[in-house]
Amino acid sequence: MNSDLQPLAIQTQHYPAATLYVIATPIGNLADITLRALDCLKMVDAVAAEDTRTAKRLLTHYGIDKPCFAAHMHNEHEASAVIIQRLKAGERVAYLSDAGTPAISDPGAILVNAARTAGFQVMPLPGVSAVACALSAAGLPGFQNAGAFHFHGFLPSKRNQAETDLKPLTSLAANLVFYEAPHRVLDTVSLLADVFGRGRRIAIARELTKLFESIHVCPLGEARTWLEEDDNRQRGEFVLIVEAPSKLPDPFEVALPILQRLLGVLPLSEAVDVTVELTHASRKTLYARALKIKHQG
Ligand code: SAM
Repeated sequence: MNSDLQPLAIQTQHYPAATLYVIATPIGNLADITLRALDCLKMVDAVAAEDTRTAKRLLTHYGIDKPCFAAHMHNEHEASAVIIQRLKAGERVAYLSDAGTPAISDPGAILVNAARTAGFQVMPLPGVSAVACALSAAGLPGFQNAGAFHFHGFLPSKRNQAETDLKPLTSLAANLVFYEAPHRVLDTVSLLADVFGRGRRIAIARELTKLFESIHVCPLGEARTWLEEDDNRQRGEFVLIVEAPSKLPDPFEVALPILQRLLGVLPLSEAVDVTVELTHASRKTLYARALKIKHQG
């Protein structure tokens, strides 16, 4: 584009040399890239990418030709050393992950840490991320409408490990965001229903920004059936959002069974202290209950 035709906001951008540019890229719809990201990609000396073919496709689409080299989860340390040499030579280097924002369930954090530790500037060029995209259109206001969310990303593939990850989240006052692959989505929604209860709502956001985009919200207890009703609903890429609990469990109710167990093996005041530490329930209330339990034998 002729520079006269560029918006003023782009004409006035400045891209310092010897800088690592961390650039968000589309998650499906090629048009979802910012003017600043494209402008920066035209300026850089080289592009480091999680997948050089994906990066080349994007660059070619926008008529940009740059040397690309690989920096993915299997070579991020070695690639970081190469990139730091380039930064030392004063180059501007861009980093792109496969889709969306680098370092969000993607490589990038090791490279950024290495560049910053070596004293180089790291500039983020923000854009799409599946987590923000799904949250923006899920319509789940969250605990007390505060919109707080916890991003978990991918769960471990083994059910018992996933369950261990999920248990501490049951009383978190936040929407919970998971990434999931199509071949695991049925098992994952079943597990989420088992852990969080069938009544909490889930948003199943599929193929965001793409042709077959869909966002379906239903109680967790109905999610598996809804997915099974049509094989197409199990295809593509998924973001799953479990709605925050509408009210939090009373800390005293959570603490009581723990206190009862501990009183069997610890002196009274130690049992109370440990229970308070674990549950944050009121010490005064727990102490009074502990005395009563001891008194009743
Ligand atoms: N860095 C990316 C980001 O910022 O969202 C995430 C990369 S992670 C390796 C890929 C996962 O993100 C997919 O398995 C899926 O769970 C989610 N995802 C990516 N694109 C998506 C899309 N278009 N629709 C729904 N989920 C998507």
